[in-house]
Amino acid sequence: MGFWRSSRTAPARPPFSLPAVCGVSVTNVCNATCDFCAYARDKKLIGTARFVDSLAFAEAVPILRRRQIRHLTLQGGEPLLHPAIEALVESAAKGGRQVALITNGWRLPLKIGRLAEAGLSRLLVSLDSHSVTEHERNRGLPGVGSVSAKGWPVPSKRDWSPSPVSPSIVSCASRSCPRCSDALDSMR
Ligand code: SF4
Repeated sequence: MGFWRSSRTAPARPPFSLPAVCGVSVTNVCNATCDFCAYARDKKLIGTARFVDSLAFAEAVPILRRRQIRHLTLQGGEPLLHPAIEALVESAAKGGRQVALITNGWRLPLKIGRLAEAGLSRLLVSLDSHSVTEHERNRGLPGVGSVSAKGWPVPSKRDWSPSPVSPSIVSCASRSCPRCSDALDSMR
């Protein structure tokens, strides 16, 4: 009897909420050709191109908030190919969520200002190698490494203070690799 009584008692809430982060794949379209990725445009595996509906996403944000999901990470495919990516960022930011975005960086010079205005709080740019040449070869995006190394213009008038760009080295190792470590330090 005691067993059943205790099993019906609601479990104590943990001192933290899970999950705190939700990754949202906003499109299955990508402009790159990374050899490790099924979204690569040259593999032609994605089928019909899909883009998250911005109105439906706005309706989902309060639900995520009620579920205590504090951080959203927008990803793809390549999220900057979503025609309403700024609206997605704005919906999440206005809903009080911290919004991160993972990108290959190709469209950042065009998009970074409006993303900042929309409330983007964290930016992650994937790198494939310490070598710009190797990185661009794998991505199939000539010039993308040079653009990433130079950085992106952000409007100075607003108080956007994102976390530093967080390069994600995917086909090499990490900061434990001395060549990657040098490459990352050169981007500070
Ligand atoms: S940029 Fe990202 S989504 Fe596109 S092919 Fe490369 S790893 Fe895949």
